[in-house]
Amino acid sequence: MASEPEFEQAYKELVSTLEHSTLFQKNPEYKKALEVVSIPERIIQFRVTWENDKGECCVNRGYRVQFNSALGPYKGGLRFHPTVNLSVLKFLGFEQIFKNALTGLNMGGGKGGSDFDPKGKSDNEIRKFCVAFMRELSKHIGADTDVPAGDIGVSGREIGWLFGTYRAERNKWEGVLTGKGGSWGGSLIRPEATGYGLVYYVEHMIQYASGGKESFKGKKVAISGSGNVAQYAALKVIELGGTVVSLSDSKGALIATDEKGFTPELIGNIAELKVARKALNDLENHSFKYIDGVRPWKEVGKIDVALPCATQNEVSGDEAAALIEAGAKFIAEGSNMGCTQEAIDTFEAHRKEKKGESIWYAPGKAANAGGVAVSGLEMAQNSARLRWTSEEVDEKLKGIMKACFENCLETAKEYITPTEGEFPSLVSGANVAGFKKVAAAM
Ligand code: GLU
Repeated sequence: MASEPEFEQAYKELVSTLEHSTLFQKNPEYKKALEVVSIPERIIQFRVTWENDKGECCVNRGYRVQFNSALGPYKGGLRFHPTVNLSVLKFLGFEQIFKNALTGLNMGGGKGGSDFDPKGKSDNEIRKFCVAFMRELSKHIGADTDVPAGDIGVSGREIGWLFGTYRAERNKWEGVLTGKGGSWGGSLIRPEATGYGLVYYVEHMIQYASGGKESFKGKKVAISGSGNVAQYAALKVIELGGTVVSLSDSKGALIATDEKGFTPELIGNIAELKVARKALNDLENHSFKYIDGVRPWKEVGKIDVALPCATQNEVSGDEAAALIEAGAKFIAEGSNMGCTQEAIDTFEAHRKEKKGESIWYAPGKAANAGGVAVSGLEMAQNSARLRWTSEEVDEKLKGIMKACFENCLETAKEYITPTEGEFPSLVSGANVAGFKKVAAAM
């Protein structure tokens, strides 16, 4: 079999926690389910040809991994990035299966995308690419079959072009994509959902660890990334009284130099910059410094919370140790597989060793499930032909993140039995709870 490093990493991470739990003792038949779930039900690969602004023909690879539909239609984003290949999409699709299970909604797992690089392309070129991509993908998806959404490189604007093409190709208006614009069926709060949901999840971690005494209020929070997830996580942290001390992009890290951290206005400027596809070092301001070529983790000084929100493997073992050194107590992934296995092992060893004073780590498949959860709510609204208010969606999102946290926590207690004083492992809890639901359905 071809080497698939990212997929193998995600698979091994899941299996190592399942094997250290009592799950297979209690349910020996789930061993077979693990073997079955590790193979995608279907992979669609296709060629995408499109015309650039010079009138030249360009070609890219397109993919959709329809991983598992035991719980519902395949559901998961589309990523447009030059690093996209089958290994990356299989890892993302695999994680998505269990993440979607943890939302409690009926969604299977899938992921797709292309090695197309939106960076340096004109709006017109991106639109042409989206149209060409959906001409082929539209043959394989549907509101009850497979419902894509955005991921890195695909936001509301791209979803618009993709949705318009689906409608034209299939002569059908249906909720076939989520993350749509509001005027054509999108859910309120969907753009905010991943970042908000992440902060709601961590708020439960903080409350549990402090016996209900603490919250985000007064906490220093390091965030990486500057896309949709990082922006809304930052805004929610600020709203809850925390201080955001870092953000980043692929070229370097933005570190706050002012005690008060970043303001909502600055986050707004960053959002505009991103729409214009510019880099963070184009920003002018005196309340931060931009450090070229680094991630924030070793640069942030004393912090309480770290939220990796950029991309996979963005926290190494070394950086995990640096975060512990910096005083971070809560680490939760807004990105998918943000931490390397070495980083997870570092956090988990600390959790076991230091008991109640330890680091507490939450994996993306639980902590960032708010995005796909509100996608599920968008599907429900589309099917019912109605639209909920922001307050209604936000309340449901809060309920889903609370239930997700409690499910991870209680499952960890039941299947791993923490020793006296130890926080339950949220990694094992998330993996066992997500897998168990899918295995039972299969
Ligand atoms: N790309 C997001 C994720 O990783 C959202 C997927 C969706 O809404 O379908 O969960």
